Amino acid sequence: MTDRANSANVALADIRTRMEKARQRFGAPPEKVELIAVSKTFDAEAIRSFLAAGQRVFGENRVQEAKEKWPGLREDFSEVVLHLIGPLQTNKAREAVALFDVIETVDREKLAAVLAEEMARAQKRLPCFVQVNIGGEEQKAGVPVDEAVDFVRRCREVHGLDIVGLMCIPPDGQPPAPYFAHLATLARQAGVANLSMGMSGDFETAIAMGATHVRVGSALFGGRG
Ligand SMILES: *Cc1c(COP(=O)(O)O)cnc(C)c1O
Repeated sequence: MTDRANSANVALADIRTRMEKARQRFGAPPEKVELIAVSKTFDAEAIRSFLAAGQRVFGENRVQEAKEKWPGLREDFSEVVLHLIGPLQTNKAREAVALFDVIETVDREKLAAVLAEEMARAQKRLPCFVQVNIGGEEQKAGVPVDEAVDFVRRCREVHGLDIVGLMCIPPDGQPPAPYFAHLATLARQAGVANLSMGMSGDFETAIAMGATHVRVGSALFGGRG
């Protein structure tokens, strides 16, 4: 086994062990918590070692970058599930629908409408998450907290999107737990089952607060430099 393949195995095993411990420690429900390996900025060769180690669920934050890396990787590995976790411009929606399996960043009416149109055209119905600006930060994407429940309803009823959950990125430099708890409350109110929350620095806390999907990049792949 090459060093690179070995370190992918070790990193994956380490994160999976920590996820399982967090789940047990906090008595979260026994259903599986999905590990999304965030491969943004890492090249196809680095990703290949994680695919070889058995990881199949990945996250990318840019359409263009995903387009350069993933069609080739998908030829060599089946059953890849690729999540879009970065902001999506409406003029990239068609490409996003072609490249990704899950869209986590639905956060405005116009995008919901365009995604619905592109999915109909492609005869695909991708599962989507609504991104919530849980800290009410001006510079961050996401629907405002007080509009989240109604936005989920409109995505479903007006646009026919398959909204399966909520996603958030809490503010930097503050304890994330209250934000994760708030997202969980909103999800219950909106009637969605999944919570995509938690990154390398806080995925255990997120699992304690009910995350069903954690998005882990640097703790798996190393620093992004
Ligand atoms: C980069 C990124 C992650 C992963 O961050 P790490 O701290 O490297 O684990 C998770 N979610 C989103 C939306 C990201 O852009």
